[in-house]
Amino acid sequence: MFTRISATLGLRIQRAMSSVNIPPPECMLRPLEVPYRYLFGPGPSNVPPRILAAGARPIIGHLHTEMYEIMNDIKRGIQYAFQTNNHMTLAMSGSGHTAMECAVFNTVEPGESVLVSINGVWGERVAEIAERMGAKVHTMVKSPGGYFTTEEIEKALAKHKPVLFFLTHGESSAGLAHPVDNVGDLCLRHNCLFLVDSVASLGASPLLMDQQKIDILYTGSQKALNAPPGTAPISFNERACHKMFNRKIKPVSYLLDMTHLSNYWVRMHVLYHHTGPVSGFFALRESLAILAEKGLENSWRQHREVAEYLWKGIEDLGLKLFIKDKDLRLPSVTTIAIPDGYDWKELLAYMMKHHQVEMTGGLGPSIGMVIRVGLMGYNCSKFNADKALTALADALKHCPKRRG
Ligand code: PMP
Repeated sequence: MFTRISATLGLRIQRAMSSVNIPPPECMLRPLEVPYRYLFGPGPSNVPPRILAAGARPIIGHLHTEMYEIMNDIKRGIQYAFQTNNHMTLAMSGSGHTAMECAVFNTVEPGESVLVSINGVWGERVAEIAERMGAKVHTMVKSPGGYFTTEEIEKALAKHKPVLFFLTHGESSAGLAHPVDNVGDLCLRHNCLFLVDSVASLGASPLLMDQQKIDILYTGSQKALNAPPGTAPISFNERACHKMFNRKIKPVSYLLDMTHLSNYWVRMHVLYHHTGPVSGFFALRESLAILAEKGLENSWRQHREVAEYLWKGIEDLGLKLFIKDKDLRLPSVTTIAIPDGYDWKELLAYMMKHHQVEMTGGLGPSIGMVIRVGLMGYNCSKFNADKALTALADALKHCPKRRG
């Protein structure tokens, strides 16, 4: 009997083995190769060795006591970086888009009205996210680099009566730092939640969640925080919590449902919802620790000083900055108007090939309008600004000028 069973099993294993008819791919038999690049685009930026080392620590379980302690540290680090006392503060398992979707999915119900300001690609994305979940989306649109006055915002709030108003603080596709003062008050008066995207600006340009009455704020890990991409801090205040925890229907996403995520991150129930990116959280913790050690004000000052140095260098090369008003320029991501006669793709390819320097073109509506240079966090130094300027000067010298 036993021999018959083991013979059948043996046959099955043999058959399973012989049914592998796709061979191991050649590429997987070669070691991983990753070049060194100077990441001077709008993100990700280079990750300092201390953060890389934190991410390389041995894995522990996502539900272990020590992991919850680390998550608590992360929460405190985000509260400092956002300047908020909100309890509902956590890191999403996913990139900035995850936080965008989480914010919209949880605070808006199908059929409710949402107002989105669009002056670059990020408003476009949020409008699409809200539309997909069935919201009634109203937009205020300016060309890339434009900004909205409080009067314009107030008029639109009064007209559309949204439950949520979205604004990008650091419009990385246009290089604009949008003023945020007074908008929170307007939203409060119009009984609307104020949602702000600070993916490209957090740590680089002043933002004070509680003082500026921002109801929901999110960022990404891979810009001025210098952690690897893949985690996204987010925070909700009491008003936002009240709205999202008194819904009539469940949010469309199970993974991003704040009822579950708040059990995981805030009530810290040791209950399985999803497996958090343990290594990503180690790295994020370290990046928030570096920001805490440095101090927010020092970080803002450093970004501003280096940006001013870069802006001058760009103008000295005879190039034009895309955002004319210095006070509206985003210090972390500078946009250069594409110089007359040049093919921007050739300039970028030249810098990558000869200097291992990454800069990028525009995104969404700013494609073909700008070249973007990002010097964020660890990359934010005059030394790197010089490196970027040298690469740019060299590209301008060697790339063919076709017209103009
Ligand atoms: N918002 C802004 C302002 C951004 O710059 C980015 C990333 N470039 C995002 C949102 C989206 O973040 P992610 O790519 O991490 O999803």
